[in-house]
Amino acid sequence: MAASRLPPTFVHGFHDLAAVQRMKYRPLGRTGMIVSIVSLGASPLGNVYRKTNDDEAIQVVRTAIKKGINYIDTAAWYGHGRSEEVLGKALEGIPREAYYLATKACRYRPEVDQMFDFSAERTLRSIDQSLERLKIDYVDLLQVHDPEFAPSLKMVCEETIPTLQKIKEMGKCRFIGLTGYPMENFVKMVEGTSVQVDTALTYCHYSMNDTTLLDYMQFFEKRGIGVMSASPLSMGLLSNRGPPKWHPATQEIKETCRKAAEYCQSQGTDLSKLAMYFSLAEPSIPTTLVGTASLTNLQANIDVVTGSSLSPKEQEVSDYVMENFFKPLKKKDWENLEVDEYWAKMKKLGKAPPTS
Ligand code: NAD
Repeated sequence: MAASRLPPTFVHGFHDLAAVQRMKYRPLGRTGMIVSIVSLGASPLGNVYRKTNDDEAIQVVRTAIKKGINYIDTAAWYGHGRSEEVLGKALEGIPREAYYLATKACRYRPEVDQMFDFSAERTLRSIDQSLERLKIDYVDLLQVHDPEFAPSLKMVCEETIPTLQKIKEMGKCRFIGLTGYPMENFVKMVEGTSVQVDTALTYCHYSMNDTTLLDYMQFFEKRGIGVMSASPLSMGLLSNRGPPKWHPATQEIKETCRKAAEYCQSQGTDLSKLAMYFSLAEPSIPTTLVGTASLTNLQANIDVVTGSSLSPKEQEVSDYVMENFFKPLKKKDWENLEVDEYWAKMKKLGKAPPTS
């Protein structure tokens, strides 16, 4: 879609027309949604990275929508309802047609044995709770949150995804999606369910340190599945502040990112800025979800799309960092580490996964 065309979410008298005209949009699979290529992740509103200021977080959401970011992603899991609650306050008074909102079910509590529940009963309850916190009648997208932690993908295909379909038929969501980290699981679930999956969200798979998502784009595109690439900053790895304590990456990846950030600083540049430009430059990805509860970071992330490109010096540093820090990384992902740790903890509580 040309940069100057207005998206279907544009509302005269509400949006900042000039800002929306500068934003770029792309279709999200076959959903009919035309999404801004940079979108807003609301996990920081649940205080998952740091304690955020609710007033600023609310301003971030309102400013993002007014300036043309039309896709917001949250989950029952982020702050255990807190992200949805803050969003609910932020969205009050905003025309419902001005944004697309996605949430997730199946991941809930910090206690390990209450963290996940992929059952039909809990999923049906979850969407009602989400809608109540968000204070809206429907979400555009309801997603299965991190199905790699389910007792089996068979259960997800035969119970959870059909429940999402039921919720769609009830009019509580318009589309259904899958999320998760291991890419092969998307293939297994799309092929293992009789339900039409509309979207796929993965994270940290199209950022400077790992571009595995590109190997799967054809699979999704062939089936009309809209792809969302989350976490261009690899959940804080590609930043001067560094990752939060819970970050699942290996020590090797964390060290490499820290050294890359230091190198960028020594060159008078900022790794986060380079990482945003890197991820947003990929034309086959409909939208890249970046999380923030800060107005300064929000504007910086919008500028990546609507402002000037990297300076020659910044581009040189970016190329250097790719060649000398990230390409030599032996293992770029942390697949299975988190899931193994989860089931080890569950086993200690006497709750082992089925062996099939
Ligand atoms: P991210 O890579 O977007 O990084 C977020 C961190 O970077 C935050 O600490 C934020 O304050 C900081 N940040 C944002 N913009 C910055 C800038 N310009 N300069 C410096 N720092 C900046 O990771 P994320 O927020 O976890 O991912 C984006 C969104 O994607 C999430 O909010 C969530 O909605 C979604 N997501 C979903 C899943 C899933 O479904 N399993 C997993 C990960 C992310």
